[in-house]
Amino acid sequence: MMPRLRFSLSPASRVAIGLVSLMLTLLLMADVVTGVLPSRLGEAKRAREATAQLLATRLTTALNAGRAEQVGTLMASAMTPESALQGGALFTADGRLLAQRGNHPKGWTLAPAEPSTLDNIRVPIIADERPWGELQLVFAPALPLSLGYWLRDPLVQAIIFVTVFAFIAFHLYLRRMMRYMDPNAAVPERVRTAFDTLSEGVLVLDPEGSIMLANRAFKNMLPPGVGALTGLNASSLDWLVNGLPAKSELPWTEAMRSKAPQLGLPLRVQGPNGANLDLVMNCSPIDDGRGRVRGCLATFSDVTELHERTEGLRVALEALSASQREIEQKNEELTLQATRDPLTGCLNRRALMDLADKRVAEATRDATPLCCIMCDIDHFKSINDQFGHALGDRVIQASVRSLNSGLRGDDLLGRYGGEEFCILLPRTSLEQAFEVAERLRHEVDTHVGIALRQPARPKVTMSFGVALWAPGMDGPAALIDLADQALYRSKQGGRNRVS
Ligand code: GH3
Ligand code: MG
Ligand code: MG
Repeated sequence: MMPRLRFSLSPASRVAIGLVSLMLTLLLMADVVTGVLPSRLGEAKRAREATAQLLATRLTTALNAGRAEQVGTLMASAMTPESALQGGALFTADGRLLAQRGNHPKGWTLAPAEPSTLDNIRVPIIADERPWGELQLVFAPALPLSLGYWLRDPLVQAIIFVTVFAFIAFHLYLRRMMRYMDPNAAVPERVRTAFDTLSEGVLVLDPEGSIMLANRAFKNMLPPGVGALTGLNASSLDWLVNGLPAKSELPWTEAMRSKAPQLGLPLRVQGPNGANLDLVMNCSPIDDGRGRVRGCLATFSDVTELHERTEGLRVALEALSASQREIEQKNEELTLQATRDPLTGCLNRRALMDLADKRVAEATRDATPLCCIMCDIDHFKSINDQFGHALGDRVIQASVRSLNSGLRGDDLLGRYGGEEFCILLPRTSLEQAFEVAERLRHEVDTHVGIALRQPARPKVTMSFGVALWAPGMDGPAALIDLADQALYRSKQGGRNRVS
């Protein structure tokens, strides 16, 4: 389907055409009355009359001089392209033809006594102050119907010139003037009042982007010193344009060009009291219902307070998450403090007992073997007495390091009493547990004394007792008690051994 072409004139063009027509009418009327305009026909008429008059004078002179035979020659000599004379005839007063030249018989169309025209001119010949005869002259047709000839007519040229230049001048002038005419008239009073009740700023723009209406809320957003808005092109409102994010096309221009609303544009401008205002701008094209854009509606929501609150909330949230991290850290420390023995870092007795309950439950559920090793540093009292309490502490720490080095990841080591430790070994048979205990015993025996780096190296050994969990036992305490009994046997049997 062919696109339907729409040709519409702007109001300025329509008024300019009207004014030009009126002016031409007046000019032509003035010409009719005063003949003020130059005319090619007028010029031709004057030139032909002059030619005719001159020829008549020459013929009269010749006749008066009795040289009637020269009449034809004089007539022929006047027939030049410049004079446009094509033929002529001289008649005496009684109608006798004296001489005839050129196109006269065909070209002469006037009835007797009919007045001269542009192409046929008659001149009375006077001799001795009495009518002697008549000279009839035939000229080339003065109105050739060619466009070129017509266009060369000064009158036509004058009209074309005046029409074109007057239209341009009127058009420019009107466009300029329309800007200063009251565009408020385009928006009815009740519509403006309605817009003024809105808390959002509103601008109504015409298709060129000139402001037709700015509501009260919009004016209240402006800093002092911004002049009248109505009639001003929105693109020359620096306050607005400078606050827009840098983009090649202005949002209202884009909305009108693409016929699609431009929504949620962030805008930071200077407010009435000098502080920054955060606005959100929406531009919606105004449609005339037939798909033609007649302008644009731009709205401005003040979101400064919202932004400030969001920012405040963000800061508060950050502070909250920081303090949460701190609390988590403290909690971790507290958990560590609650479950660990401060001197050795291994589980304290309470945490050990809690975990022992779980290991026993697992072993019962999964029917896997669970062993317990109890161990105690031999003659520790005498180490304390001999080397001091501080070294005694270091002996305890070094012993724990040695014990730890021989255990797996899911084995548990806890400080049960002063220098007595409890080890739980899940999924471990009695034989395997015995081997572990023996390895630990050997480790302590060979390394702890050396690790103390004392000149008088104390001999540090430990005694071990091993027990296997059996279903029907009365909880982990019973298992530990059994292992403790085995430990007692090791002490009885001479220490530094496993029972
Ligand atoms: P045995 O071989 O029979 O175990 O002899 P022992 O000397 O080790 O006897 P016992 O286990 O009764 O002695 C424990 C001593 O350990 C008593 C106490 O003064 C000391 N002790 C307990 N806790 C600590 C501690 O944290 N640091 C130090 N330095 N000594 C402690
Ligand atoms: Mg001891
Ligand atoms: Mg002890």
